[in-house]
Amino acid sequence: MTEQPDEPSTEIRELRARKRLVYALVLVGGIAITLLSWWFRGPDDPFLARVYPPFAAVLAGLLVVLWRQWLTLEHLEGLMVLVASALILGRLAWHMHFAAGIEQQLMVLVGGHFWAVGLLVAGAFVMLDRRRGMIAGIVILGISILLTVTGALREYMAAAPPAAETLMYLVRVHVFLGLLLALLAAVAGMRDQLQRALLRAEILHDWATTDPLTGLANRRAAEAGLEREIAYARRYGQPMSVIIADLDHFKDVNDTHGHAHGDRVLREVTARLQARVRDSDLTARWGGEELLVVAPGIDLREATALAERCRRALAEEPVAGLGITATLGVAEFTPEDDRDSLLARADRQLYAGKAAGRNRVVPPPDPLPGT
Ligand code: GH3
Ligand code: MG
Ligand code: MG
Repeated sequence: MTEQPDEPSTEIRELRARKRLVYALVLVGGIAITLLSWWFRGPDDPFLARVYPPFAAVLAGLLVVLWRQWLTLEHLEGLMVLVASALILGRLAWHMHFAAGIEQQLMVLVGGHFWAVGLLVAGAFVMLDRRRGMIAGIVILGISILLTVTGALREYMAAAPPAAETLMYLVRVHVFLGLLLALLAAVAGMRDQLQRALLRAEILHDWATTDPLTGLANRRAAEAGLEREIAYARRYGQPMSVIIADLDHFKDVNDTHGHAHGDRVLREVTARLQARVRDSDLTARWGGEELLVVAPGIDLREATALAERCRRALAEEPVAGLGITATLGVAEFTPEDDRDSLLARADRQLYAGKAAGRNRVVPPPDPLPGT
């Protein structure tokens, strides 16, 4: 795994692509609603007549920004919440302060604009993180309450007080909006908790399956991976081979150059071997200085050639400034094998190589049936 820490993972890239698609749909829907509202406006509605066409243009601009990726998604999300808030709260201000009395427009207010405020609060929570969503939600709801209260006061001052029933209606609407905000805050809290739990699970999984020194799969993960490949090879009749590599006289490296330098050698050996195997192969730290390669799709002949390439990759050039060699054992899976018998065959080869003088891949004793 050579993924850069600041490079987003595939999941995050997919999530962003999905978000972009949803935002594009929201913007297209917003443009359509704005233009339809403008087209079917009443004759005495200058706000709609003047503000909606430029607003549709702003939404179209946001769509272009989204499409060309001129802004980061986070900045665009903030901007979209801001733009939508300006329009919806502006429209609310118009109804409360500049249009005819509240009473005459109660249907428009309750049926359209407070509903839109609710949608805005929900959208802020979906698009922003919990803290910023909460702040945006409180500000939006606060402005809505302020506009409503001042709108009602204006009517009192004009000696045309709204009916108690109307006021109760507006109070109820705002209580509902407050409940919506509380509900969304709770859901966002749960979302955060879930994210933290998933992150913890991912870290624990990494700890449980990765060797910290080399970054390779550890023995536990290797055993599981090998079982999977055996099951696959058995089920589909595909060849599969394993290679075990053990460094030669590694104790001497530690004794002469220190354990820390030994660790460096292990890391470099890992990098060199990983460059020789396929991405689909599983390379694992099997023991102290023993590495295991599980190579699906290759037979004994190909695996022996691969092991020889790995051996040469170490022997031909110093590793961390030292002459390092390895002896490798190879075995191909047969239907009679289980994990232990397969590894035992590779181990026997490895020890035959050690006995024959190290730094070698001893060819397997007898050809396998059918090869
Ligand atoms: P042989 O050629 O027979 O394999 O000789 P060897 O000295 O390599 O013998 P063996 O494989 O039995 O020894 C393994 C040595 O690897 C012992 C231990 O000091 C060293 N080793 C195991 N794990 C680590 C590690 O994480 N870091 C370092 N630096 N050394 C390790
Ligand atoms: Mg060794
Ligand atoms: Mg060893």
